[in-house]
Amino acid sequence: MHIKEFQGMMRKIYFHRDSKRGMKGTYSWLVDEVQELGEALEQGDKKAVSEEFADVIAWLASLANVVGIDLEKAALTKYAGKCPKCGKPRCECTF
Ligand SMILES: [Zn+2]
Repeated sequence: MHIKEFQGMMRKIYFHRDSKRGMKGTYSWLVDEVQELGEALEQGDKKAVSEEFADVIAWLASLANVVGIDLEKAALTKYAGKCPKCGKPRCECTF
């Protein structure tokens, strides 16, 4: 399954609810899920970490649907096989 297909699946399951909740509410859910991912990582519970990653990508897809962004296109346009900052296929940025 590609990112585009995953986003389409999330649209089928949740768009009727996501569109009513709107951008701000959906963004808020995404932030909450990122927070929960951080907590799961701190606790080191691999099953919980896996579930929180799933929630984060699900809410990211929901938010993209609400605001009309094609996640796969956006990701692959910016990260087209190289670092968008230094332009190298293996990042050589100095932080
Ligand atoms: Zn770089």
